[in-house]
Amino acid sequence: MASGFFRSLVEKFRGRPVDWEELEEMLLRADLGVPMTIKILEALRERPGTLDADSAVSVAKEEILRVFPPPPPPLRPLPALPKAILVVGVNGTGKTTSTAKFASWLTKKKYSCLLVAGDTFRAAAIEQLESWGNRLHVEVVKGQYGGDPAALCYDAWSSAKRRNIEFLLCDTAGRLHTKDNLMQELSKVKRTLAKHDPQAPHECLLVVDATTGSNAVVQAREFHAAAGLTGVILTKLDGSGKGGVAVAIAAELGIPTRFVGTGEQAEDFQEFQAERFVNELL
Ligand code: GDP
Repeated sequence: MASGFFRSLVEKFRGRPVDWEELEEMLLRADLGVPMTIKILEALRERPGTLDADSAVSVAKEEILRVFPPPPPPLRPLPALPKAILVVGVNGTGKTTSTAKFASWLTKKKYSCLLVAGDTFRAAAIEQLESWGNRLHVEVVKGQYGGDPAALCYDAWSSAKRRNIEFLLCDTAGRLHTKDNLMQELSKVKRTLAKHDPQAPHECLLVVDATTGSNAVVQAREFHAAAGLTGVILTKLDGSGKGGVAVAIAAELGIPTRFVGTGEQAEDFQEFQAERFVNELL
C-alpha cells in the first residue's frame, strides 16, 4: 500500500474539491477493500457541501475505526488447563517468528508457556523455533519432519497440562489457502486439541504480512472456513506496507487484528491498538 496515503491525499486535493473517482482509486490502492471503500465514500457523500481533503481524512478515520471491535479483554490463562493458541498462515508471512515473539511477550507478563514446533513441513522451521526457544528460555516440543502435527500438538497439550503450563503456542506449517488437503490437516489439528478440551484451541490467529495486498482477504476467508480464526497477527509493519488489508479483513469477515509485528526481534511485537494503527495508516 502507498505509504503516507492520506498525507498524499491531502496534498493532492489541497485547495480544490476532492475528486470522487481519484479518491475511490486511492482507497482501493490502500488495500482497504471494496466494501470498506464503499462505506467510506457513502459516509463522505452524506456530508453536506463540497468535500475537502481534511474532512475526507477525518471521516475515513472514523469509518475505519468503526470496523474494529473494541479491544478484547486481556489475554489471561485458564484456571486449570493450558490455553492453546494456534498460529496459522501462508509461508513467509512470519508465522514461526511471530509464534516465538508471542512467547516472549507472554513470558514478560510472567506467564509460563510451551512452544510447539508444529511446522513439520518447512525445512529448518523446527530448528528456527528451537533456536528462538533457547534464546527466550522457553521449552520447545518438537517431532520429526514429515510427522503429524495433530499428534504433536495433542501430546504437547498433555505435557503442558501435567506441568501446569499456562499457554501452549503451536506453530503450524505454512500452507496455501488453496490447498484443500493442507487445510484439512489444519482442521485435524483443531479437532485433536478439542479432544482434550472442547474449547481448545482457544485462539486461532492468522499471520498476515502487512505488505500483502488484497489477496490476504482471500487467505483470511479460507483459513477462517477451515480453522475458525479468532484474530490476526499483522507482521512487517516496519516495512513498506501499512497493513490496510487488516481493515479489509475486519470489515469483510469481522476478524479483529490482535497483535502487530514491527521487526525481527523478540520485542518487536505489540498488542494491536486501533487508533494508533489508523493514525499511522493514514
Ligand atoms: P513463516 O514461513 O511464516 O514461518 O515465516 P518466518 O517466521 O520464517 O519469517 C519469514 C521472514 O520474515 C524472516 O526473515 C523473519 O525474520 C521475517 N519477519 C517476521 N516478522 C517480521 C516483522 O514483523 N518485521 C520484519 N521486518 N520481518 C519479519
